[in-house]
Amino acid sequence: MPSVGMKGRERNTKTVKNKTEDYLKKNGRLYCEVCIFDFVKEYGSRGDGFIECNHTNFLLDYDEPTKTSITDLVLLCSNCHRMIHRKKPWLSVNELKKGETN
Ligand SMILES: [Zn+2]
Ligand SMILES: [Zn+2]
Repeated sequence: MPSVGMKGRERNTKTVKNKTEDYLKKNGRLYCEVCIFDFVKEYGSRGDGFIECNHTNFLLDYDEPTKTSITDLVLLCSNCHRMIHRKKPWLSVNELKKGETN
């Protein structure tokens, strides 16, 4: 069972679990969708199953969405996740990838 790092309200919901399981099935391992950071590669067994999950529909409003589907979630390493939330407006994954600095 992957333990998923959460930030604030992005707690371990069933959707988060589904997302990580789906991602594992598709990609064979968990890694950051922005920078491809792989916790297992870097930290060995300590990093096994670890990844943070970002709700993209929290970008504008920090309130809990009424309904989250796995397409609303992205898997991120701790660095990328922090950078997204570092200041408002929060960046989307694509903006972070492009290195936008607003
Ligand atoms: Zn990353
Ligand atoms: Zn987040």
